[in-house]
Amino acid sequence: MRNSDDIWAKVEAHEADYIRLANQVFDTPEVAYTEVKSCVAHLAQLQAEGARITQNLAGIPTAVMGEWGQGGPVIAILGEYDALPALGQVPGVAEPQPLGYAGHGCGHNLLGSAALLAAVALRDWLAETGTAGRVRYYGCPAEEGGAAKAFMVRAGMFEDVDAAITWHPGDYTGLMAPLALANMRIDFTFYGRAAHAAGSPELGRSALDAVELMNVGVNYMREHMPDDARVHYAYLDAGGEAPNVVQSKATVRQLIRSRDNKGLRDLVARVRKIGDGAALMTETRVEAKVVSAVSSMLSSPVLERVMEAQIVAIGAPVFDGADREFAAKIRATLTPEHIEDTFYRVGRAVDLGLPLADFVVPLAEQRPAGSGSTDVADVSWAVPTVQAWVTTCALGTPFHSWQLTAQGKSPAAHKGMTHAAKIMAATGRDLFARPDILAEAKAEHATKLAREPYVCPLPPEVMPPIPR
Ligand SMILES: [Zn+2]
Repeated sequence: MRNSDDIWAKVEAHEADYIRLANQVFDTPEVAYTEVKSCVAHLAQLQAEGARITQNLAGIPTAVMGEWGQGGPVIAILGEYDALPALGQVPGVAEPQPLGYAGHGCGHNLLGSAALLAAVALRDWLAETGTAGRVRYYGCPAEEGGAAKAFMVRAGMFEDVDAAITWHPGDYTGLMAPLALANMRIDFTFYGRAAHAAGSPELGRSALDAVELMNVGVNYMREHMPDDARVHYAYLDAGGEAPNVVQSKATVRQLIRSRDNKGLRDLVARVRKIGDGAALMTETRVEAKVVSAVSSMLSSPVLERVMEAQIVAIGAPVFDGADREFAAKIRATLTPEHIEDTFYRVGRAVDLGLPLADFVVPLAEQRPAGSGSTDVADVSWAVPTVQAWVTTCALGTPFHSWQLTAQGKSPAAHKGMTHAAKIMAATGRDLFARPDILAEAKAEHATKLAREPYVCPLPPEVMPPIPR
């Protein structure tokens, strides 16, 4: 395999354009399926880089793909650019200064920019070495609760792809453990009968009672589900403001998570029964509507070895005194629990005063304390997929926090972004250069799928919730 230096230099050659892109996306924060400005910014960059462009992927207006190269295998680099509601925050200050609108509290402004930068470096490498192969950048919207990649997989957007590579901004550097919970959001709407709550309560059938009984039922189920399963809920419609009216319609959203896809199907069946039971008890009628769903992550040990070797080769990003000074100020706003949590996750005795992780955490040492869900997981069932964590923020910074938004335009974040692009580009380069490794990854993936075929968790009638 070639020395990594040439691919790192190809990343560095384009770095300035992508810092600009990351900052532009940071300044136009848009939540799931409304990422119009962010998508246009990525589209304009793809055009500037001479990509063959496909817009409106899977019928989603804010999903875009650009491709370079000819023939050979297809390597996909996955990017995201969606923001989170209410996490708008003045960047570069170490105190809460909310802006009152959405913000990049998960660093996706960096995520998409680094992915596109890696793809451009690979384009240059393919051209310079005359290697047959195509590199694609997938601009994926709505990672936060929108399951866009699951819709994109369902629409066949990865059918001719050989492998997928991505990353996520984080507070340390290392291969990302291939763990993510499968999940499904289901809205249970109960229909009862309105009545005067004092004058003729016997005529009323309360949809709100049904919602409450459903939650009681789920609470009793909690003791009897696998330890790593989760069920969360939110009242979308409590039936109205008037307690003297028997509420005739009420909706609760249940978010059900499980370690694996089969576990999710089993748990969803139980939650549906609880909904039916609540309707039976209250003589109401229930309608259950799936809103979104994603799979659990399928590991790719072959790709993980390739990427981890590249992470070891490059090490952690190198930060300077000013980076550490700002990170230390951010760190001063975190609770001891946040800092202890980091200590646990990285599986080693880090200096609790260390503001920015200057080390790589081997996958074998990581102890993911808990796990969320991501739609990258659905791509992992379509093609072998691998992801890295790269340091962009102070050690202990929680995701989806004002502290993370505050660091979204910092020099440390930009250093981490370029670093991530180098890791992804070097991983892609290894796969283009070594068809035997790519074939091994695909064979391993096929074996896993033969054991457990992929079932798209989205019912066929469920479409992306694109605002019209
Ligand atoms: Zn994220």
